[in-house]
Amino acid sequence: MKFAIDMGHNCPPDTGALGIKKEDDLTKAVGTLLMQKLKAAGHTVIDCTPKTASTVKDSLAQRTNKANANNVNIYVAIHFNAFNGKVHGSEVFAISNASTGIAQSVLKEIVKLGFANRGVKNTPLFVLRNTQMPAILVECCFCDSQTDMDIFDVEKMAEAIKDGLIGDSKDETAKSDKDNKDDKEHILEITTATVLKPSTDQSSDLPKESLIEIAPGKYPVLDARFEEQHYWVKWPDKTKGNRDTHFVFAGHCKVV
Ligand SMILES: [Zn+2]
Repeated sequence: MKFAIDMGHNCPPDTGALGIKKEDDLTKAVGTLLMQKLKAAGHTVIDCTPKTASTVKDSLAQRTNKANANNVNIYVAIHFNAFNGKVHGSEVFAISNASTGIAQSVLKEIVKLGFANRGVKNTPLFVLRNTQMPAILVECCFCDSQTDMDIFDVEKMAEAIKDGLIGDSKDETAKSDKDNKDDKEHILEITTATVLKPSTDQSSDLPKESLIEIAPGKYPVLDARFEEQHYWVKWPDKTKGNRDTHFVFAGHCKVV
């Protein structure tokens, strides 16, 4: 998969919040490590952080233009919040259905680190409106909150975002162990209502009757693997669409 990573601000006059720590330093540290982790997992990464800009708008436009020109699959902007020193926690912004699924997956991993869950929000921010692919903006936590800065760790934050985007590598190991034993089921967890498809093609390109609606919940499957932003899953029977294998968009589900 191809990711665009936008390390928020870091491009005067586009500079970030000043708190107990500087937002610019934090977005750069988390973004740099996240890019390394995604590359190490075999993904392509485009750094969309510009070097110079004339205005804040120009800085933002350069980021989204670069992601669009490179046809990335997922755009991820990294930011840190600041308010009054008291408010704390994590939130992720997303405006399309596909991005909301990805945002939920990333936020779920971040709050496991102990940050308060401020939810997925659909404010139409510039980088979300001007990207042609699923895009999320992660407000990792508050850089002016002692509560957040006490538990913030660059490595853990980058790992959580990576896990939210591509899944936990420890889960992968557990999965292949199960494959070897061949006697345990996988659980497909649908996080956002979506469809089971016969291929990884866009739902809009496929005949309507081949799409099978599936509600959020946990479904046992016999086998699963990750392919091009989707999970291929083997259903226990042919009750769905008279086929027992399906593709489901990874942004809307998890395999555990
Ligand atoms: Zn910011």
